[in-house]
Amino acid sequence: MANQLNPVRGTHDLFGEAQRLHRYVCDTARERAACFGYEEVSPPIFELSEVFHRTLGDTSDVVSKETYTFDDRGGESITLRPEFTASIVRGFISNGLTQQLPYKSFYAGPAFRYERPQKGRLRQFHQIGIEVLGADQPWHDVEVIDCSAEVLRALGLLEHVTLEINSLGDVASRTAYREMLVSYFRDHKDSLSEESRERLERNPLRILDSKQESDRQIVADAPDMQSCFTDEAKAWFEKVKLGLDALQISYMVSPRLVRGLDYYTHTVFEWTTDVLGAQNTVLAGGRYDGLVQQMGGPDIPGIGWAAGVERLSLAMQECHAAAVPGTAVPVVVVPMGEAAVITALSVAHQLRQQGVRAEMIQHKNVGKAMKKADTLGAQIAVLIGDDEMKQGLLTLKDLSSGTQESIAQDALLGYVTQMA
Ligand code: ATP
Ligand code: MG
Repeated sequence: MANQLNPVRGTHDLFGEAQRLHRYVCDTARERAACFGYEEVSPPIFELSEVFHRTLGDTSDVVSKETYTFDDRGGESITLRPEFTASIVRGFISNGLTQQLPYKSFYAGPAFRYERPQKGRLRQFHQIGIEVLGADQPWHDVEVIDCSAEVLRALGLLEHVTLEINSLGDVASRTAYREMLVSYFRDHKDSLSEESRERLERNPLRILDSKQESDRQIVADAPDMQSCFTDEAKAWFEKVKLGLDALQISYMVSPRLVRGLDYYTHTVFEWTTDVLGAQNTVLAGGRYDGLVQQMGGPDIPGIGWAAGVERLSLAMQECHAAAVPGTAVPVVVVPMGEAAVITALSVAHQLRQQGVRAEMIQHKNVGKAMKKADTLGAQIAVLIGDDEMKQGLLTLKDLSSGTQESIAQDALLGYVTQMA
């Protein structure tokens, strides 16, 4: 039996530096996305199972193997979200937001997938991402990719990542390609991996994404998607590429890039890095023109991306990317003796009300209190002893120079704001 003091396999506690980095990633992404006009939305962590099962496609890895699905006490089938897009589209429809287009949302929060845990692959992980609903022009694709590039740039990762893009064409292109692909793979059925054989009739596009060695050669010789594109699909992709060129966003066209979920059309993209080993995709996205309608809403096209916060954080650590602001507390208040505790508490209280970060340290040994001040990164110590109390004074110590002076209690704030 698992030890009840350990976190569940594939989950972890976030604290200290890891938590700070995590928050920094989310805050930076939120702030950058806001610059593009994306507003934060927080859908529930779980939904009726159909929300995911119907939309992601029953043959997608996520639905067939990875969802946390259970019946609640009322007998309703519930699924913990494995991703946000379906939830956001559901919320977009159920809140009647379909009249205010484009609808541009940013999100950040946990997602759940029952996967084999390893570096960069967890069972509870966190995603940040954006979705634009009512994105009916190719320039929306460009802007959405630009926003992903901007987040990566702000995190100091842009030099360490590569953008791959592809087009899956429109529905007509996809249908034609699907047929061509099924007939090609049928001819090579005996050499395909078991997993790919299973996908052959249900979801042949996913075979292109196969990581199985035995499939690689067959996939490499498979017909190109582009050969089935309608003129509209071709023109759309050309406009996206032109837009990226204009913004000087470098990319590679990867004709074999397909995304794991069933709902994608036209543009799909992934940012990968070589600093993370096997889990090398940090951010991925694509267009999903049929999804809103498939979920019972009007025919409204959409596009978005999601990034794994843990993978971004790991990549930042590997590359020593952006410096994460610390949590230094600049002022410590140290009562020297029991009688000074209340005065010290109220001094700290007043400083905080003025927006100064202040922490009280009580220790019998003042030397030890000073050591603790050091680990907090404090610059100023306010020492309050019995004598000082009687006279309404404080001792102010500059912790970098070691100099100290006695000041009136009510002059403290002026001093502190000058020094800190
Ligand atoms: P992968 O091919 O690595 O399984 P995916 O295609 O399943 O990724 P998406 O559904 O596109 O991933 O999710 C978007 C991003 O979320 C991924 O690029 C990755 O950064 C992150 N992610 C996905 N699954 C996990 C996981 N189990 N643990 C940590 N991060 C994850
Ligand atoms: Mg996956």
